[in-house]
Parts: sequence; structure tokens; C-alpha cells
Amino acid sequence: MNQRYLMALDQGTTSSRAILFTFEGAPVAQAAFEFPQHYPKPGWVEHDPADILHTQIEAMRTCVRSAGIDAQEIAAIGITNQRETTLLWERSTGKALYNAIVWQCRRTADRVERLVRENAAPLIREKTGLIPDAYFSGTKLQWLLDELQLKNRAENGELCFGTIDSFLAWHLVEGHPHVTDATNAGRTMLFNIRTQSWDEDLLRLMDIPRQLLPEVRDSVGIIGMLHPDILGARIPVAAIAGDQHAALFGQACFKPGMVKNTYGTGCFMLMNAGEDLRVPSSGLLSTVAWRIGGKVTYALEGSVFMGGATIQWLRDELHLIRTAAETEGLAFSVPDTGGVTLVPAFTGLGAPYWNMYARGTLTGMTRGTGRAHIARAALESIAFQSADLYTEMRTACGFDPDCLRVDGGASANRFLMQFQSDILNLPVQRPAVSETTALGAALMAGLATGIYDSLEDTAASWHVSESWKPAITDEERQNRLKGWKRSVDTAIWWAKERQ
Ligand code: ADP
Repeated sequence: MNQRYLMALDQGTTSSRAILFTFEGAPVAQAAFEFPQHYPKPGWVEHDPADILHTQIEAMRTCVRSAGIDAQEIAAIGITNQRETTLLWERSTGKALYNAIVWQCRRTADRVERLVRENAAPLIREKTGLIPDAYFSGTKLQWLLDELQLKNRAENGELCFGTIDSFLAWHLVEGHPHVTDATNAGRTMLFNIRTQSWDEDLLRLMDIPRQLLPEVRDSVGIIGMLHPDILGARIPVAAIAGDQHAALFGQACFKPGMVKNTYGTGCFMLMNAGEDLRVPSSGLLSTVAWRIGGKVTYALEGSVFMGGATIQWLRDELHLIRTAAETEGLAFSVPDTGGVTLVPAFTGLGAPYWNMYARGTLTGMTRGTGRAHIARAALESIAFQSADLYTEMRTACGFDPDCLRVDGGASANRFLMQFQSDILNLPVQRPAVSETTALGAALMAGLATGIYDSLEDTAASWHVSESWKPAITDEERQNRLKGWKRSVDTAIWWAKERQ
């Protein structure tokens, strides 16, 4: 049977998806199934592991059916996933011992505070590239072992810990391999991204028995064969990468200094940082971009908390718009914001300000301020926050990127993309395939199975669809940035006054 397709499994926070691509990187079919979110207490977020598995398998089957192909035409499968979400299951039966604790879950915030009080932050930063936070899996796993009193069973080797990729590989691949990849391991706060090994000091710090941990594989490499019960064919499962890492790959950011920004609910900016690990002194994270043939490429990562969520706020709380897409026409309908700046610090400010007390401000309003000005200011705020991250990254790594590659829901907004280019003084490029995360996982699987010979070969599937060039003067840019900075200072000042 002629093999013509690559399949990506994109297991996200709200849905499980499967997408089929041709070897040229063109999507041919996709299926997605949402699953319930569980909030057992304020700040807690869980998923039922059975839901995750079941929706993922349904997505795979539906995708193959809707494409009208034979599963044997699929050359390889790549897995990409919501990161940091933590699972624990029984080695002998595969039975999950608790719900998956989702990355967003804050239940271990006090454990992280304790680690910081014990001065563990510099050690964690140095070894993992992370800033201690309840997002990461380490304290979630510690919580599970404590609460369910499973330490003894863990020490006896009866249990498996894994992130979502690991859980899927265990259930979907013949022989139940207990594996993960270096990008996912790197988000556990237990894995040393320098030495590429589970770290004795960190395991001791969080009281985690080594017997629990999966084997850490390359991101690109055959894990095993898909169990034939799933699609009726044995297909190599040949890649694993966390979602943001797969997106960087899908954007073909293969050279140091190449950078992508995903404009979703939040924004995630990742820059290829090359083969030398430098942990920046700023609030950016260092992370494994991918590991291929044992060789690690690192990335810098930063995020904007309120990206597209700012637009949701205009829609759902202010009722200023009915759809997110409306903001584009509104923003273009006025020549500027009329002096209005929105700082959407609704949950504080991230990099480079790191002020958790700051709150949102809307400054510079006059009697003439209307909804178009506010909509425009909201879009500009997404670009300003991304520009702050970008500047931080450029300073931290010393590279001089020649463009910003973009994806995610809000990258559809042409006003936002033009303004981003203006304010960064950098071309912005949006690729033809917007599903960069899934594409990245599929390309990785193709690379592992010899469909592609090299990274350059996979990059041939990346094509620009639309691009934007800076169109304002330096003086105007400096004025706009100054205005933004003043408004951010106001949001921080307001917080200081309140403390
Ligand atoms: P996620 O993967 O985080 O759910 P998506 O990539 O699906 O996010 O993007 C959805 C976000 O993008 C929403 O917050 C929405 O408000 C915003 N968004 C979608 N389309 C537009 C648009 N045309 N203009 C501005 N924002 C948009």
C-alpha cells in the first residue's frame, strides 16, 4: 500500500484532535472532540484520563474515516500535547489512580512557596531553566503521592508517572512503553535540561522516587507501533513534543534567533536559542526546543497572560463586540486610539515586569472616546505585550531575528499583525498552514521515519501566506512605546499604592 500521509495527535486542554497531512504538509482531514473540565475546588482543574484517551482515539478514527483513506496509507504518527498536566497509573493494569491534574491547577501553590522559602529557586532555575511554579508537574506529582499515600507503591516500582504524551504512548503503542520526550520532561521541574537526565537533587527536593519516572526519549524517533486495535494498522509512533515546541518546529524555526508567536487565549513566544544553554537572568524560561539524535536544541520562552482573552473580555464582559473578528474593522475605522491605552493586567503582569499585584488600567480617555478606540487599544495591548517579550528575548540571547512568524486564532486579525510589525519594526509572516502545532508533530514523525532527510527538507513544507512590513516612522514607534510604558507604570503604581 502506498504511504502518503502523516498523522498528528494534538491532545490539548479542551479537546483532543487528529489531523492528517500529506508529505508536502497540506492538511487533508481533521477531527476534534471536546471533553469536560472538572473544577473540584476553586483554583483546581482536572481531566478524567478516560476522557482524554477515548476522545483521542475517536478523533483518530473519525479523521481517517472522513479522509476516506486506508489507515495503512499513514506512514507515521506524531504526538503533541498540553504540557505539564500530570498523571499517575498502575504499571500492571494501566489504571489511572486519580484524575489528570491540569497545568492550570493551582493546588500546589503552597508547596511551591515552600520551595522558594527554602531557597530552592536558584537550583531549580539552573537545572531546569524554569521559574518555580505550580504549573509544572513536580509538585503536582508530590501532591498525588502524599494525598493518596502512594510513596511505598511508587518505591516498589508499581506505579508510572507521566505527562499526557507519556500516558498516550503507554496506551496507544504496542507493549506499553513508559516513555516521554525531552521537551515534556523539561516541564516537570524534575529534569535537568543540561545533562538530559532526571535530577537527583530535584527528586530529593520534591521527594519523588525515581522508579516512577518514564524513560526520556528524543522528540524525533520511533517509540513503537500503534496498537492495531486502534486504526486496524500497525503504524510507527515516531515523535513526541509539547505543543509550543511542536509549533516552533511547525513554523520551521530551525536556526538560532528564529522566533514564533502564537496568539491564542494567551500568547506564547518561543525563540530558537541554539545548542548552548544560557539561562537568562530575566523572567524568561529556558526550555528544550527539541532533541534529535541525542542533540538538544534549546529555546527561550515567554508568555503573555492576556492575549486573545483581552478580546473575549471586550465581548463577554463589556459587550462591546459580538465576535472577536469584529475588532479588526473597528480598529481600522479610526486613525488611532485617540490617546487611549489599555493595560490588561487583569491577573498581574508577566515578563519583563513580574508584578502580580498590578491590575488592568484604561488610560487617556476623553469625552470623544468610543468603542472603536477601546477595541483598537485592546488589540494594540496584545502587540505591546508581545513586543515587551520580544525585546527581552533579543537582549537575553543576542540574536537579531529577521522576522516574526505567527499563528493562533488572533493572528487572523490583520490590524493586529500590521500593528505588531510596526511596533517591533520587524516583518511579520503568517504561514499557509495555521495548524503549526499539529504540522510540527507530523513533520517530526516524518523526519523520524525517513520521509524527510533533514530539517531543511521538512522546512520545504513551510510557506508564507500573508506578511506585514513595518509602516511607521521611528519617531512614531518610540512615542507609542513610551505611551505604553507610561500606562504600564500607572498599572504598577496603582498596585504599589494599594499594597
Ligand atoms: P486557544 O488555542 O488558546 O483556545 P485560539 O488559537 O483558538 O486559542 O484563539 C482563540 C483566541 O483568539 C480567543 O481568545 C479569541 O478572542 C481570539 N481571536 C480569534 N479570532 C480573532 C480575531 N479575528 N481578532 C482578534 N482576536 C481573535
